[in-house]
Amino acid sequence: MSDASIDVLRDRIRGSLIGGAIGDALGYQIEFEKDIKPRQVTRFFDDYGVISDDTQMTLFTACALLWRETRWTIRGIAMLPPEAIYLGYLDWLSTQQRVPEHRLISWIAKIPELNVLRAPGMTCIDALSSGRAGSIGEPINDSKGCGGVMRIAPIGLFVSSDEKAAVFSAESCALTHGHPLAILSAYTLGLIIYYIREGWTIKKAVKTAISKMNVWTPEAYYYTKNLENIWNRAKNDLSELLERAVSLARDKTEDLKAIYELGGGWVAEEALAIALFCSLKYEDSFEDAVIATVNHDGDSDSTGAITGNIVGAALGYKKIPDYFKNNVELKDLILEIADDLTTGVPTDENGEIVDEEWLKKYFYSIGG
Ligand SMILES: [Mg+2]
Repeated sequence: MSDASIDVLRDRIRGSLIGGAIGDALGYQIEFEKDIKPRQVTRFFDDYGVISDDTQMTLFTACALLWRETRWTIRGIAMLPPEAIYLGYLDWLSTQQRVPEHRLISWIAKIPELNVLRAPGMTCIDALSSGRAGSIGEPINDSKGCGGVMRIAPIGLFVSSDEKAAVFSAESCALTHGHPLAILSAYTLGLIIYYIREGWTIKKAVKTAISKMNVWTPEAYYYTKNLENIWNRAKNDLSELLERAVSLARDKTEDLKAIYELGGGWVAEEALAIALFCSLKYEDSFEDAVIATVNHDGDSDSTGAITGNIVGAALGYKKIPDYFKNNVELKDLILEIADDLTTGVPTDENGEIVDEEWLKKYFYSIGG
């Protein structure tokens, strides 16, 4: 990859992760408040953007992908990405509760600012505490909370094909959320993020992702058959809701009116629909998009996180206003992880990893 194209990629991946954190932090301030007015929140309260579980879990998703890719490079064999992400989420769980030590894979688990409770989703906590990983084939519950979707952006930012982005996102959602609409929402968001990373406009990415629901069946993975069953149960409901979001944005419908028509965002498909409405209506302005997406009575931090992931990727880090990006919690850590996703595993001409810092983070990690 040329220097210029890696610079563009870095800007998009930084934009997506920092954008998601900003949307999360803006929304977290009013997540449980009611009677929110349009543009009630425009800045961080106390001038400081405190992130919530949405960004925490997104960072653990990213680290798990990098840990897994490093092992693959060194050993030529590794578990599938969703299986590594499950281990990453167990690490996140250990930061939320004083659970017995387990074999950590995520170097970020030791970071003090991540060892705090920020209204973690109970479905995630319960599913991860059960000792069992859900999957598309064997759902762990019937939950369609948006907690299975708000954390998956790194998958679309990192993997090498649209099919992998979609299927790994779906399977990663199913670790904790078993409802078909949650799983298919993650599938669709994974595709959208992947296409935007590839340089597509939000409009083209959304249109293509929705159309894939009706015509495309992934074939390359062992869980294809189970995914097809999920798909047929949910695709009509989801594509109808997302098409509605697209037309509300096209008609420039007033923000709150459109958002309440799409739902409250507490469940996956509504959170995705609200994020798509705001991302499409305000595709040229990061600030307008995230302000629109958090100012409602629903799950503001998750709609904020997803919208920030989408618009941040499309516009890039440089186009995010300084006020937001300079005042968001863990900015330096988020940028470091974004840049690690951009370069991928660094190898020399013999295919070996000589970067000791990288090995410390993603190979020796904490558990080795
Ligand atoms: Mg949250």
